[in-house]
Amino acid sequence: MNIETIAVHAGRCVDPATGAVTAPIHLSTTFERDADGEYPRGFSYARETNPNRRALEECLAALESGKHALAFSSGLAVATAIIQGLEPGDHIVAPDDVYYGLRQVIGVVFAKGQLATSYVDMTDLDAVRAALRPATRLVWTETPSNPLLKITDLAAIADIAHQANAISVCDGTFATPVLQRPFDSGIDLVVHSTTKYINGNSDVTGGALIGRHDNYLFERCRGSQQYGGAVPSPFDCWLTLRGIATLPYRVRAQSEAAAKIAAVLERHASVERVHYPGLTSHPNHAIAMRQMSGFGGMLSFQVRGGREEAMAVAAKVRLFTRATSLGGPHSLIEHRASVEGHTSKTPQNLLRLSIGLENTADLISDLEEALRR
Ligand SMILES: *Cc1c(COP(=O)(O)O)cnc(C)c1O
Repeated sequence: MNIETIAVHAGRCVDPATGAVTAPIHLSTTFERDADGEYPRGFSYARETNPNRRALEECLAALESGKHALAFSSGLAVATAIIQGLEPGDHIVAPDDVYYGLRQVIGVVFAKGQLATSYVDMTDLDAVRAALRPATRLVWTETPSNPLLKITDLAAIADIAHQANAISVCDGTFATPVLQRPFDSGIDLVVHSTTKYINGNSDVTGGALIGRHDNYLFERCRGSQQYGGAVPSPFDCWLTLRGIATLPYRVRAQSEAAAKIAAVLERHASVERVHYPGLTSHPNHAIAMRQMSGFGGMLSFQVRGGREEAMAVAAKVRLFTRATSLGGPHSLIEHRASVEGHTSKTPQNLLRLSIGLENTADLISDLEEALRR
């Protein structure tokens, strides 16, 4: 089946009790036992699972063509469950430009966990190989990365991880299952912040873990979900599943618009550099061509000048909202260096864009007006 059909049908069925075409929201926290003590309908207590979460998880697994999926209350709750599943003394290899929250999870939440982490440039495969240790159990990738949209070669990383007897993870939040298929490259686990494109409406915080096959880390994450309890509410699951129905169409529209905007910015006299994997000028364009079927709705660009010139552009736009996050219907603009704080290595003249669902020509006029000197 093709992804548009999966997005509408997976995890859905006509409600047997009422004939409702859209599933009801089951708020009940507890479910009836049979006289013999069994739960023949598969539900007993809502933290362990509930109908709306089960439906969402079925759909998430199908979207990635994975074996199984777990829905969490945020993207970082997924990361926390994965790190929690490691043993004291284990070593992690992670990208040097990884989503800052993962660094916080490893460095703050698990500060006492006796884990070692090497942050490396994942686009440099020799550096990844050199970072491996006998204790390496996890190789984390995030592609496209934030905010420079660097592209990691997933097949090469999966291979390196497997040879080292480590589990490979891909945070595919920016690409979504519509544009990138990490399991086809041999990656073991896929992570999404469903807060972004998968829900796609900037109104639910959530996360997903999808497993290609059975492995101990996925099962430990299931334990963290069911007993640790970082679970999404039935309503959040219902909203996310509703968002997924339009995912393929939204992502393709956002991707096409981003490609046009990247091309316009690249030619603009007030722009020094554009970071978008769909541009032939992008250093990892060849890998992106190989492992992505579109290049996504995220891009960043450097304004000629410095911090002040970039801030002035962000202050002048009218359609783009100055806000963090991504993947929703509203286009967003963000000065990443201010968000990341004083340790940030992001160029001071860089602005990140999340392209929404507005008319592309309107967005281009807005940016051109704001860039006028
Ligand atoms: C937002 C984001 C996360 C964290 O997800 P939350 O839902 O905010 O916890 C992780 N990875 C990437 C790439 C993200 O953009």
